[in-house]
Amino acid sequence: MKYFGFAGKIAHIDLSSQKIRPFPLSETYISKFLGGYGINNRLFWDYQAPNTDPFAPENTIILGTGPLVGTLFPGAGKVIGTTKSPIIATPKKLHFIDNAVVGSRRFGMMLKNAGFDHLIITGRAEKPVYLKITNDEIQINSAENLWGIKDIYETTDLFLHENPLSGILAIGKGGEKLVRYALALVDYSGHLGKFGFGAVMGSKNLKAIVTFGTKGVKVAHPPEFLKLARELRQKIRAVPLLKQFHDLGITSGWALQAPLVYEGNVPYREWKKKFGPKIWKKHKFQHNLACGGCIVACRTDFHVPAGPYQGLTSFTGHHFLPARVALRLGIEDPTLIIKLLDICNRAGVCFFTVGGLLNWITRHETDSFPREISTYLDLLEKIISKTDIGEIAANGWYPVSQHLEIDPDGFFEGRS
Ligand code: SF4
Repeated sequence: MKYFGFAGKIAHIDLSSQKIRPFPLSETYISKFLGGYGINNRLFWDYQAPNTDPFAPENTIILGTGPLVGTLFPGAGKVIGTTKSPIIATPKKLHFIDNAVVGSRRFGMMLKNAGFDHLIITGRAEKPVYLKITNDEIQINSAENLWGIKDIYETTDLFLHENPLSGILAIGKGGEKLVRYALALVDYSGHLGKFGFGAVMGSKNLKAIVTFGTKGVKVAHPPEFLKLARELRQKIRAVPLLKQFHDLGITSGWALQAPLVYEGNVPYREWKKKFGPKIWKKHKFQHNLACGGCIVACRTDFHVPAGPYQGLTSFTGHHFLPARVALRLGIEDPTLIIKLLDICNRAGVCFFTVGGLLNWITRHETDSFPREISTYLDLLEKIISKTDIGEIAANGWYPVSQHLEIDPDGFFEGRS
């Protein structure tokens, strides 16, 4: 391999036949598509047949990293997942290709260190499985003791207990039940693929992927590379907003972000008073999580210090997500929003999509679904387990708009 920064290998794992085929990463693909998104998409083009149903065994999942992942370059922990999304977005039920990217604490770095740049996953396992990837070796192991039993945090804890340095990508009940906006969580805190990446994993009976490796990643000119990485770190440290990022996540600049996302159903000042940075600082726990090698550490943990959910801690990329969902649902107590966030994280469903759908349903069917926390918790449970109206809501915006006869164009979140 004449290029540095790559492990130089791809693995095709077919879960139906349980066959694993490692093969070299093409240098032509590197020169044409560089890595990450580029090679993910080229591999998807190579392996995916047209008109494949997203939940068919033939739908392909590509996972990949770029050439900087696994090196000391700051912030280079990204993992990219490509698949055909199960989201129903049109009357003709056309589906789009979802390219999801997320920062990982260890998963991407460990995949590369285990000797693989990309994984191609096809087929459907007969029974639930997980993949264990360690230094050039890939095992397909039974996950029957996890499926339907362990949520994402519990699954992650279990694998970390075996090896605290592992990278872990896992799905929860949402993915297992094929909720169309189910995602996978990477290393507790990275939300990969809100357009159903987790559901496609679920359709393949794939509960988790665990990576660990010690092979290292070679760079072309180590002294120059280290100098550049060090300089970049110093520049990042000098960014005045860094303290804010550490406090409340990457979009912590309220003055900059809030006007862009304000949805207008309560007065702006009231929203800020109830869900602005001061409130979230009170619910901030002890530490942030960072992607491998990143000094920004933007993954924020929110904590419930007292009350019925005392002790609960859950992660989000930034405090705007809970603030916006609170605004939509008219919730005034931050601990209730943290509870909803935690249920979504554990089940692996998109919290933001859930917030919007609960808003739609309770605004249009207020008699049956009064806008209060007990309704939201009940509806969320029904979505995750796909029972009653949850069966429809688990299919996403378009089916819900048809069922409730809502004109989506006339309904702008809280304003309807
Ligand atoms: S910790 Fe945040 S800022 Fe740093 S690489 Fe990860 S997502 Fe990006």
